[in-house]
Amino acid sequence: MTDFVESAERRELRAAVARLAGRYGEAYFYAAARDGRKTTELWREAAALGYLGVAVPAEYGGGGGDIGDLAAVCEELATAGCPLLLMVVSPAIVGTMIARFGTGEQRRRWLPGLADGTATYVFGITEPDAGSNTHRIATRARRDGDGWVLGGTKTYISGVDEASHVLVVARAGDRPALFMVPVGAPGFTHRRIDMGLVAPEDQFTLFLDDVRLPADALIGDPEAGFDQLFAGLNPERIMAASSATGMARWALRKAVRYAGERAVWGVPIGAHQAISHPLAKLHVEIEAARLLTQKAAALHAAGDLKAAGEAANMAKYAAGEVVCAAVDQAIQTHGGNGLASEYGLVQALATARLTRMAPVSREMALNFVAQFSLGLPRSY
Ligand SMILES: Cc1cc2nc3c(=O)[nH]c(=O)nc-3n(C[C@H](O)[C@H](O)[C@H](O)COP(=O)(O)OP(=O)(O)OC[C@H]3O[C@@H](n4cnc5c(N)ncnc54)[C@H](O)[C@@H]3O)c2cc1C
Repeated sequence: MTDFVESAERRELRAAVARLAGRYGEAYFYAAARDGRKTTELWREAAALGYLGVAVPAEYGGGGGDIGDLAAVCEELATAGCPLLLMVVSPAIVGTMIARFGTGEQRRRWLPGLADGTATYVFGITEPDAGSNTHRIATRARRDGDGWVLGGTKTYISGVDEASHVLVVARAGDRPALFMVPVGAPGFTHRRIDMGLVAPEDQFTLFLDDVRLPADALIGDPEAGFDQLFAGLNPERIMAASSATGMARWALRKAVRYAGERAVWGVPIGAHQAISHPLAKLHVEIEAARLLTQKAAALHAAGDLKAAGEAANMAKYAAGEVVCAAVDQAIQTHGGNGLASEYGLVQALATARLTRMAPVSREMALNFVAQFSLGLPRSY
């Protein structure tokens, strides 16, 4: 029988992160987004308290925890109104890839900065012509003496302006390989994409024009292929699901508070079942998505990558759906106020929508379940 309650240590971590994030909250987050600032103060404080590095191995300055701990940090930040997009990328995906596949020297070089928050690394896999079809990636890495030369284009890459390096997925021969590419290296240019998201982080298109890299820019085995890649993508899905369930909790909490206070027929609107039942249903669905996410994290931490892959896709799907429903219902509960900036909900619409699309789209998550869980034929 498995324990369905998180460890006391994990619960304490959640409570501590909630206290920190509560001092910032949505007002801080959306003011930063509106004014074109980053959430540097929160990021630094979270790092100093050990939250960003909670899953980095202790020998490299981290907390020695696992992806479930990092996911708990991410969820609590989002629950307080601060869904930090780069949490999903820098400590989660890049941190996992380096900790898992890097050499001892690479771990010593890259991980301590992630743990203390002095370094941010982002991740580039998406390409304009490949999109969801990772097998079509055209960015190439060719050997050049001891080193490598990279050429290609990546798009929708988050946080390039905040990072020192991008972990780029490029084809070395036939197989996808991973390279730490310094932002601004000769031949590296990036262009900001104008997005409709209200978020402090920006997205970029990257152009890699014969970017020369030393041999040790390669992380892992260039022959390992998709298995190596997917071992790193599961944490990203788990983190995206955590951020989404956190944001869903945030929206539900606002809706419940409002439904308990607002009275237009002499009783709080929350007394009407047309208001209370959708909120109760959301509470159930959020809890279901959280349980799936925690299961995926536990399987990943236990090293069962196949089962973790299935659970991570299911969690990401469930969380993406529930966050869209939660923000929508919170707006509905607020009536006209739901669309006023002052109530802080309308700003969250596009971010909630994002989890349906990234890091893997709703349809690709369902394709995974149809093929691998249900054994149905592949359409593509
Ligand atoms: C805000 C934001 C941040 C992002 N950050 C990053 C990042 O940091 N790094 C990074 O590498 N990428 C990032 N992405 C990219 C993101 O991962 C992709 O947008 C996502 O994987 C979908 O790819 P696409 O946009 O090319 O859509 P497409 O692949 O063009 O798909 C378009 C639509 O068709 C559907 N579709 C495609 N193929 C199939 C199929 N076989 N069956 C059924 N439906 C299908 C999709 O589900 C989708 O609905 C980010 C995107 C956004 C919006």
